[in-house]
Amino acid sequence: MATITFHGAAQEVTGSCHELESPAIGRVLLDCGMHQGGDAVERIRDEEFPFDPAHIDHVLLSHAHLDHSGLLPKLFREGFRGSVICTRASAELLEVMLNDSVGLYLRDLERTNLRNARRGKPEIEPDYTKADVDGVLELCRGYDFGEQVALGDNAHVRFHDAGHILGSAIVEVTLTEKGEEKTLVFSGDLGKHDSVLMNEPARPGKADILLVESTYGDREHRDETDSQTQLRDVLRDTWRRGGNVLIPAFAVGRTQDILFHLGCLHHEGELDAWEVFLDSPMAIAVTKIYDRWLDSLNGDVRHLSEAHRSSLVDFLPRLNLALETEDSMAINRIRSGAIVIAGSGMCTGGRIRHHLKQRVWDDRNTVIFTGYQARGTLGRILVDGARHIKLFGEEYVVKSNIETLGGLSAHAGQSGLVGWIKSFQPEPRTFLVHGEPQAQDALAQRLWSELGLRTEIPAPGHSTVF
Ligand SMILES: [Zn+2]
Repeated sequence: MATITFHGAAQEVTGSCHELESPAIGRVLLDCGMHQGGDAVERIRDEEFPFDPAHIDHVLLSHAHLDHSGLLPKLFREGFRGSVICTRASAELLEVMLNDSVGLYLRDLERTNLRNARRGKPEIEPDYTKADVDGVLELCRGYDFGEQVALGDNAHVRFHDAGHILGSAIVEVTLTEKGEEKTLVFSGDLGKHDSVLMNEPARPGKADILLVESTYGDREHRDETDSQTQLRDVLRDTWRRGGNVLIPAFAVGRTQDILFHLGCLHHEGELDAWEVFLDSPMAIAVTKIYDRWLDSLNGDVRHLSEAHRSSLVDFLPRLNLALETEDSMAINRIRSGAIVIAGSGMCTGGRIRHHLKQRVWDDRNTVIFTGYQARGTLGRILVDGARHIKLFGEEYVVKSNIETLGGLSAHAGQSGLVGWIKSFQPEPRTFLVHGEPQAQDALAQRLWSELGLRTEIPAPGHSTVF
C-alpha cells in the first residue's frame, strides 16, 4: 500500500511538492519547490515542511525551476541526507539556480536585517545558507532519459522527456509490493508540442496513478510561429516609435526561446538594428549550459545549419552579455534601440525592476511578457492593465505598451494536456496539480465531457492511498 500526499502545487501553481510513501520505496518527495511572489525573506521563513526532512530517503526532481527545486537547501538544512535524483542536464542547471537563489535571498535578508536594526528589532537568522546549497548539490545524482534507477529492491524510477525546459522530466515510479506492480507517473511541467527548442513531451502510456500539471488547463496557446510574427511586429512598431523593449524572462527556457526567435528574425533580415542585451548573470550561465546540450534538443534547432546549431549565443550576432552591475547600468544610457532581456520573469525581483523604473513610464517603450504571470506578482499586475505601479517604494505611471507573447509558453495548453492524458490506457486514477482552481475546473470539465474521465483535484495536505 502506498500513500501520496499533496503538500504543494495543490490548487496553486508554485511550491511543487508531493510525498510518496510505501514500504517498497520509503519516503520520497516528488519535487521540493518554493512558492513564489511576495517578500522572499518572509516567504522562505513561512515555508514549513509538514514532515521531517531527516526521514526523507530521496527527492525525485522533475526539473530545475525553483518552484520545483527551490527548497532543497532548506530541506538539507533541516536534516535531509538522502539523494536528489534528476536528469543530468537538470543537475547542471540546479547548481546555477540554487546558487543564484541563495545569493538573492541572503541579499534580501541583509536588507531586512538592516531595516530591523534601525527599528531596534532583532536580527533574523537565515533559513539556509550557501553551505546548505553546497550540501544538497553533493547529494544530487544525474541520469539519462530512459535509464532505470533502482530505489531499493522493489522500486525504480525512470525519467522521460517532458519538453518543458532543458532536462525537464516526466517522473515514472514503479513499485512492487506483495508481487503486485504499481506505476505512478508525475508529469512535472509539460511542454508544448511546437516548442522551438524542446522535444514533444514523451507519452509513457501506462500508469495506475497519474499526477498531471494543469497550469493552462483553461486555455490554448497561439502557435509558436505566430509568436515570432507577433514579436517581429511589436519590435517593428517600437523601433518606429524610437523606443526600447523590455522582456522580463525566466532565465531557464524562455530566455533561450527568445534568443532563438531573435536569431531567426536577424537571419531573415527582420530585426532592424536592435542591440540585444541579455542582462542576467544567471540567464547567461544557463544559456551556456543550453549550448552544451543543444544537440540533444529538438524543435526548429534541428533545421539550422551546422554553424548555427552549435550555440544560441553565436546565432544572434547583436547579442551583448551584461554580466556585471556596471554593464547593466550602462544600458540605462541608451536612448533607443535596445532590447533588454532580464529576470525575473514575473518581475518579482532581479534587474528587470531597475529597467522598468527607467522605462515603464515612457510611451515609446514596450514591455513584452513571455510566460505565465502568477497572481500577486508585479508581472501579473502589469498584464492585468494597472496604470500605476510601485517600484522601490516610489509610484510610477505605466505608459509603455504591455504585450504578451502567448505562444512562447513553456507549458502545454488545454488540448495538449488532454491529448497527453488521453494517451494513457487504461485510464489511470488522475489527479490535477500545479494549477489555479479555475484552470483545473475547466480542464476537469473537458476531460469529463470528452473522455468521461473523472479527475481529482487535491487540496493542500490531502492524502490518498493506492
Ligand atoms: Zn517549470
